[in-house]
Amino acid sequence: MKVGITTTAPIEVLFAGGHTVIDLNNLFVTSPSPASYVNNAHSCGFPRSLCSWVKGQYSVVTGGGFDAVVAVTAGDCSNTNAMAELLADSGVKIYRFAYPAENNPEYALTELSKQIEQFAAFFSAPMKKVRQQFNRLRAIRKKLYKLDELTVNGYVSGAENHTWLVSSSDFNSDPEKYSSELDTFILEAERRAPVTPKIRLGYVGVPPVITGLYQYVHKCGAEILFNEVQRQFSIPSADKDICRAYLDYTYPYGISGRIEDICLQAKVRKLHGFIHYVQSFCHRQIHDILLKKHLPAPVLTIEGDTPGNLDERSKIRIESFIEMLAEKNNIDKCSC
Ligand code: SF4
Repeated sequence: MKVGITTTAPIEVLFAGGHTVIDLNNLFVTSPSPASYVNNAHSCGFPRSLCSWVKGQYSVVTGGGFDAVVAVTAGDCSNTNAMAELLADSGVKIYRFAYPAENNPEYALTELSKQIEQFAAFFSAPMKKVRQQFNRLRAIRKKLYKLDELTVNGYVSGAENHTWLVSSSDFNSDPEKYSSELDTFILEAERRAPVTPKIRLGYVGVPPVITGLYQYVHKCGAEILFNEVQRQFSIPSADKDICRAYLDYTYPYGISGRIEDICLQAKVRKLHGFIHYVQSFCHRQIHDILLKKHLPAPVLTIEGDTPGNLDERSKIRIESFIEMLAEKNNIDKCSC
């Protein structure tokens, strides 16, 4: 079956059942005209005051070609439930996957194991094969950890890091091809002369629906050396057990685990500041208050709504933020 996923889920299950996995978000945002998917959802009755990612997912599925959709109804998006109901009403086969409400090991391990087993039973995937797939994907994920390390050391740009990590939610539907292209990319990146950016930034929050942000940051003499949620899509856990590894995945649980991860990475990567990307009409915007309170360096909040280029106002704010960080850290002024 061709199965769409609304966000990162234990895709090992789908591969073990012999299915093809497609992250609906990636298909939407990398299409030649993502804005047309948003407009299509508007013409189907979606309100303007709703996140573009949800509209994109809906239009990708209703565009046809999917046998089923895995809707992650807990741990991701409060809008997914209603969208799944709408899709089910139009005849799309829906499987609802729910991450536990918290990743407290005592309660959540049992809960997540149950979820993964039910998920596997629905998609006719024996658990033995699911674990084999986990080991197979783990080998590819290890290469992504290396790519992330190369980013910190200046061999890979923030934009490249984003592209590789964000697509690890479905490995572009073909893990073998993805793995071999990643090998080639890493070999090429290792041969580059490393770049030392004046200002080292972290990107936190959901991936951007807008384009040009990474390039503009680079133009201003800074570089994004940490992509928080995209890195989490690569399941950066050392645990050899699939359930425990998906408990280490911080995105679906409370903000405190995310803050802990960001603070640790900020220290390791010596970050001067953060860009917190928020999506218009997303409940996660509320996290901005806690991130600003608890992160160890200044945070600039940039909001994106519909697909398109980074707007001029955001460019000015990014430029001023980088200048402020340069001044604060006694670094030569950066110029855009
Ligand atoms: S950005 Fe927020 S509202 Fe949009 S799909 Fe993601 S979690 Fe849902």
